[in-house]
Amino acid sequence: MEDKRLERSFVMIKPDGVQRGLIGDVISRFEKRGYKLIALKMSSPTKEHIESHYEDLKAKKFFPDLVAYMLMGPVIAMVWQGTAVVSTGRKIVGATNPLDSLPGTVRGDFCIETGRNIIHASDAVESAEKEIKLWFTETEVKSSDTLAPETGGKTG
Ligand code: UDP
Ligand code: MG
Repeated sequence: MEDKRLERSFVMIKPDGVQRGLIGDVISRFEKRGYKLIALKMSSPTKEHIESHYEDLKAKKFFPDLVAYMLMGPVIAMVWQGTAVVSTGRKIVGATNPLDSLPGTVRGDFCIETGRNIIHASDAVESAEKEIKLWFTETEVKSSDTLAPETGGKTG
């Protein structure tokens, strides 16, 4: 049966992805799949903001390195919307450790180190909503009605 879960996911191109010129490629993959970009901004977050985004990981040994990595330069913060975009977005992104990411995924095509894995995508609907609130105001994510399909409908 067709899956009708209309979801939103928070996707972020990390500083290395921005610096390496991968913004267009990442956006293109989500667009071509059929998802709708409903918010986007370049951001240079504070240390506190990054610590809050990765709050669940603060007890991990790699946490200080992760925070430092995320502060190396601006990031691209995005909200994507469409059917099952959270789980599908994670598939588009690939495994956390790029060595486990399949070719054809963003990480599987562009990186080899967990500590430089170029992209973030929400891992659950609840965390997505939390992350969207942390990075965007309500006005910024208010989706305007357009002719663009939200659920993957393609012409031709
Ligand atoms: N990370 C790391 N070392 C690890 C695990 C994670 O540097 O052993 C970093 C990596 O950048 C990862 C981020 O911390 O993307 C968040 O970890 P998470 O387990 O949430 O992975 P993700 O959801 O990004 O796949
Ligand atoms: Mg995660």
